[in-house]
Amino acid sequence: QNVLLTGGTGFIGRHLTAVLIASGYTVSILSRSDRKNTANISYYKWDLESNYIEEEAILKADYIVHLAGEGIVEKRWTEQRKKAILESRTQPIELIFSVLKNNNKTLKAFISASGIGYYGAITSEEICTEETPAATDFLGKTCVEWEKAVDTIGALHIRTAKIRTGIVLGRNEGFLRKMTPSFKRGFGAILGTGNQYLPWIHVEDLCKIYLKMIQDNQTNGTYNAAVQDKTTNASFSNTLAKLYGYYIWLPKVPAFLLKIVLGEMSDAILKGQPASSEKIEKTGFEFQFTDLEIALSSCVS
Ligand code: NDP
Repeated sequence: QNVLLTGGTGFIGRHLTAVLIASGYTVSILSRSDRKNTANISYYKWDLESNYIEEEAILKADYIVHLAGEGIVEKRWTEQRKKAILESRTQPIELIFSVLKNNNKTLKAFISASGIGYYGAITSEEICTEETPAATDFLGKTCVEWEKAVDTIGALHIRTAKIRTGIVLGRNEGFLRKMTPSFKRGFGAILGTGNQYLPWIHVEDLCKIYLKMIQDNQTNGTYNAAVQDKTTNASFSNTLAKLYGYYIWLPKVPAFLLKIVLGEMSDAILKGQPASSEKIEKTGFEFQFTDLEIALSSCVS
């Protein structure tokens, strides 16, 4: 069975590739750059600006996992950057849709990342389920458009799943790659009031969710992928500081300063809502990491 990953060269994609290979799948990766095939991975190229794609990647796939997309917090959110963040997620789906349709090709499932940013911040303790309405800020709107694009693949009678992912924890990767250097040097801080929720998931658990979506043909629709707890930015930062051996009160970077420095992008760190994990757990999936300190220590020790 072949699984095609878009964005398979990134943080989640590299971990998922290893999990899929260990589970007996062959893996193909669609990338914008030239890469050499290895014993277990076939690379294919695409160029979204010119709508170019090596169609063989799609034609031989049994499953597609869509992870491609510009980094959300890499650069300030100018209008141009916001367009790139959205279109780098929706355009690949449009391209895949046209290859599937033109070739009358079907898949066993199309599984796509989405974000817990779908919910924004409701400023209450409400635990968001998959039925909670989307936020109307940039991230909320982006997730809505991204998931709508996935539904076009569903309209081809292909099973689809949308994984609304929390902050993914992995050693020196993603969010922790940005956070750990300052914490390591003793300059950890709480961002804003620190009361905003920070839904998180360990990368190993996230990969198991993707594997579950591939293997369990009863799964479809949207799933939150985050541990259901009440981690806030402050409790996260305090836990990280503790793991680096300091127990002092962490300073707070005021929200207004973050807004000045980061602009609208500050939404990504100043907003957050606890998310329900009930639906994903009802599929039989069990989190290995539910304790933040254990999860973080597996990434930083
Ligand atoms: P990465 O940034 O590590 O990897 C994404 C991959 O997408 C890159 O390796 C790149 O592959 C490809 N890519 C980047 N820009 C473009 C573009 N303009 N057009 C096409 N492809 C592009 O992301 P992650 O692995 O961390 O995340 C995967 C998905 O999960 C993303 O959609 C992300 O938003 C989502 N997610 C991640 C979270 C996290 O904490 N990491 C949390 C919530 C959601 P190449 O250069 O080979 O083309």
